[in-house]
Amino acid sequence: MTNLSRDENEFMRQQRARRRARMRKLKRRRAMLISAMILILLLLIWGIAAVVRAVFFREPVDPASVTVPDWVDVQLLDINPYSRPGTPLEKINGIVVHYTANPGTTAQQNRNYFNSLAKQNGESATSVSSHFIIGLDGEVIQCIPLSEISYASNDRNGDTVSIECCHPDSTGKFTDATYQSLIRLCAWLESQLNLKERSIIRHYDVTGKLCPLYFVEHESEWTRFKEEVAAFRKENY
Ligand SMILES: [Zn+2]
Repeated sequence: MTNLSRDENEFMRQQRARRRARMRKLKRRRAMLISAMILILLLLIWGIAAVVRAVFFREPVDPASVTVPDWVDVQLLDINPYSRPGTPLEKINGIVVHYTANPGTTAQQNRNYFNSLAKQNGESATSVSSHFIIGLDGEVIQCIPLSEISYASNDRNGDTVSIECCHPDSTGKFTDATYQSLIRLCAWLESQLNLKERSIIRHYDVTGKLCPLYFVEHESEWTRFKEEVAAFRKENY
């Protein structure tokens, strides 16, 4: 072999080595690019999942773990089949607002009425109650623990908390004091139970019953009420 052909061979060998090195570099780059794209895709999926979760899902809260604030007057009913059956309420997905449909009566009178139902016997018995009653002066009485069902909202008794509101006359319009307490109670319940805004409903939304009458007859007032609850919650809880 001549010197020239040895040099040529050496040159070819180096050329091949350089080409291989270039290919390796290219492959490495491609692998890094693919890894980065997979990472970005995973982050994107994770982000979308987090947003969907925040908007549509919520962590359920065990109602038994919630303690009522000191502005709630706790006067639990006696356990009885007609107003406090003692049935566990394991999850709360909503708040149902009612009116007593009994103008001028006080929160205490309504609470005592619920408790008196225990004395019924047999036929034509009435079953009714609610977790909370808000009085004409804005006082709040709790009749049933959050961890038990009330008899107020028909098909939704099994997953809602109920609030009865007193009212001075047959229009069903609440006094300002009742209205303000209702805003506070709803905002507090929403925050404690990790509920979303759309979880506050009327009895009317469950069965079509005209309850709470004023908020059924004045749809815009109902919308305004929910807005005020949202604003109060943002500010306080
Ligand atoms: Zn009702």
